[in-house]
Amino acid sequence: MTDTPITPEVTALARPVPGEARNLVGKTRDQLRAMLLAAGTPERQLRMRVGQIWQWIYQKGVRDFAQMTNLAKDYRAMLAETFTIELPEVVTRQVSEDGTRKYLVRVAGGHEVETVYIPEEGRGTLCISSQVGCTLTCSFCHTGTQRLVRNLTAAEIVGQIMLVRDDLGEWPAPGRAPKNETRLLSNIVLMGMGEPLYNFEAVRDAMKIAMDGEGISLSRRRITLSTSGVVPEIARTAREIGCMLAVSFHATTDPVRDRLVPINRKWNIAALLAALRDYPRLSNSERITFEYVMLDGVNDSDEDARRLVKLIAGIPAKINLIPFNEWPGAPYRRSPEARIRAFADIIYKAGYASPIRTPRGEDIMAACGQLKSATERARRSRREIAAEAGL
Ligand code: SAH
Ligand code: SF4
Repeated sequence: MTDTPITPEVTALARPVPGEARNLVGKTRDQLRAMLLAAGTPERQLRMRVGQIWQWIYQKGVRDFAQMTNLAKDYRAMLAETFTIELPEVVTRQVSEDGTRKYLVRVAGGHEVETVYIPEEGRGTLCISSQVGCTLTCSFCHTGTQRLVRNLTAAEIVGQIMLVRDDLGEWPAPGRAPKNETRLLSNIVLMGMGEPLYNFEAVRDAMKIAMDGEGISLSRRRITLSTSGVVPEIARTAREIGCMLAVSFHATTDPVRDRLVPINRKWNIAALLAALRDYPRLSNSERITFEYVMLDGVNDSDEDARRLVKLIAGIPAKINLIPFNEWPGAPYRRSPEARIRAFADIIYKAGYASPIRTPRGEDIMAACGQLKSATERARRSRREIAAEAGL
């Protein structure tokens, strides 16, 4: 195995992002308040102005200060001179045969991430990215083969929700905020590119904005954060974000998990399970999702299924079985369907829900673990072509 880093390269992650200081998108209410105060807003008006601007941006989807008609003209002009309302830019949008939409999104510095919208019966889930690439190198994950470039800002994270709402035409008519139940974009999963718990503050701020009742207003129970197992940040996720938790478990012994999810060498299965048992919000109605990718002959035996059940005993859990999604050069194959069903059956009989995730958007490489910036993909294939040609 190559010697791969299992902690973030902090200096690369912390570089300031151009334009960030002026952009009102992605700022918490407190930050917004401080920015408006510094721009000369009288203190006694601050509360009201924060509320008004917040609603224009997050409830109505307005991007132009001139349209904020409940603010005085001069004040609007001052805002337009001082601040911006900026989202990342959609470079391409692909639509799969099954209706899944994959957006290639360009963020400051020319980097690219992917965002995937998955329409389902009566709901729609948006899978958002938290980093450009990933510092971790899970051996079955396409994103893991891409070197991390940087953390996304809160604006770039919540911006993914906003630009998909633009595309779906889902900004409400005045006074008619849609209920969670009837929305096209009703759920969020932090399961795109990156490890969200290595970008904790930005992810937290973005999710707080998404949950704010005067704005996008998504319930915390409709947001699921998936982590590969950054143990020290797990309790903090419950305390400071309060969303649902999913864990990329994927193996039932340390040697196998070390190979699949290298962060296991730092926090092994026992340490991870201990953190999950202590998860502050754990209850039967708020179960933890264990994600388990089905890799042919690697982690998919009956014995694995039985071990998994024993390991998680006592944790309110649901086990989400993910048929491996292949990508060019992947070192694994998907377990046969009958094997996946037999595995699911053992778990189900032990009393756990064990849904098998249907791969979505495979024809456009939008399924779990297939995400990778198009530029990176192109670079890789050029390298592969050169190798094949003996260059
Ligand atoms: N970094 C976070 C979130 C992003 S990955 C994490 O690892 O949890 C989202 C889910 O897709 C994870 O469970 C991940 O293990 C899984 N995944 C990655 N590559 C995959 C692939 N090729 N096929 C199926 N699932 C994959
Ligand atoms: Fe990173 Fe998650 Fe992929 Fe692992 S599975 S490389 S943590 S994105």
